[in-house]
Amino acid sequence: MALSRGLRCCQRIFSWIPVVIISSVVLWSYYAYVFELCFFTISNTLEKVTYILVFHVCFVMFCWTYWKAIFTPPATPSKKFHMSYTDKERYEMEERPDAQKQILFDIAKRLPIFTRAASGAIRFCDRCQFLKPDRCHHCSVCETCVLKMDHHCPWVNNCVGYSNYKYFLLFLSYSSIYCVFIASTVFRYFLKFWMGELPNGPAKFHVLFLLFVSVMFFVSLEFLLGYHCWLVAKNRSTLEAFSAPVFQGGPDKNGFNVGMRRNLQQVFGEDRRLWFVPVFTSQGDGQYFPMKSLSYSESNNPLLANEEKWDDDEEDEEEQEEEEQQRRGRRVSDEEDTDGPDDPSVTIEIDS
Ligand SMILES: [Zn+2]
Ligand SMILES: [Zn+2]
Repeated sequence: MALSRGLRCCQRIFSWIPVVIISSVVLWSYYAYVFELCFFTISNTLEKVTYILVFHVCFVMFCWTYWKAIFTPPATPSKKFHMSYTDKERYEMEERPDAQKQILFDIAKRLPIFTRAASGAIRFCDRCQFLKPDRCHHCSVCETCVLKMDHHCPWVNNCVGYSNYKYFLLFLSYSSIYCVFIASTVFRYFLKFWMGELPNGPAKFHVLFLLFVSVMFFVSLEFLLGYHCWLVAKNRSTLEAFSAPVFQGGPDKNGFNVGMRRNLQQVFGEDRRLWFVPVFTSQGDGQYFPMKSLSYSESNNPLLANEEKWDDDEEDEEEQEEEEQQRRGRRVSDEEDTDGPDDPSVTIEIDS
């Protein structure tokens, strides 16, 4: 027990290494650009001031978005997706798999869940005891279910998902701009040092490495940024790009693709002035997403047929719980009479 706690503690410390590496490179680039290049190498005052001003704008935006991507906690499903104590007790007491399926089926009826596991099962996380909302996945690193999980990113030591996807995209964009600005302004002085027009000294090596590191980072960032721009345009997460979400009618990789403009608005919000500012403007609650086809929506969802629609109002939870108790009571008596409904499509998915 103590050993596993110690290992977990070590793992937590080591997981910060990529962030420390990135931060160290950025701090060094600040020193090399502002002091070695602008203060000690450039003699023209106008050029010096312009470079320093633009550099600081890029630097602040980069740090702001990086900070937000790292320290925004991943969003987890709300309480209504959590298996209540009574449901859990009922579920654990039940030994027949079909009856267990039925319990999950009953709970799913009052929730906005439209996606399934590959087997057609209701997606259930055994570790968090959550019925997984659409696009939600369990992250084994964060040890929690994460809404609209994209991937767990070691470079930000955080899960990229609904709560910070906009920040992650802005981080990629501003770090690209940061690299382009450094490379384009440093190149002229790199040539001057190379041609021997400027004296040898520490600045020469800082300028040389600034160019080399910024070009190297820019090239690798562009692949990632390009890929994520394509994902946003198609409204897919990285996980969904590898494994298409499964709906009632089967897998559909474009299931959440509602057109380029609306796809962008889902991540960046409706106010275009805030698209490039790292403040939270993503639409919705991360638990329900508009779908391409009406056939996936609640109007045709057999799980919701003849049932009251799900309610977003958290304050009504107690009331809902009471209604649910009553409904359960009714259903149990119905089942006694009719042996209960039998839906073979509903199976239990236990995350591995
Ligand atoms: Zn989970
Ligand atoms: Zn994670």
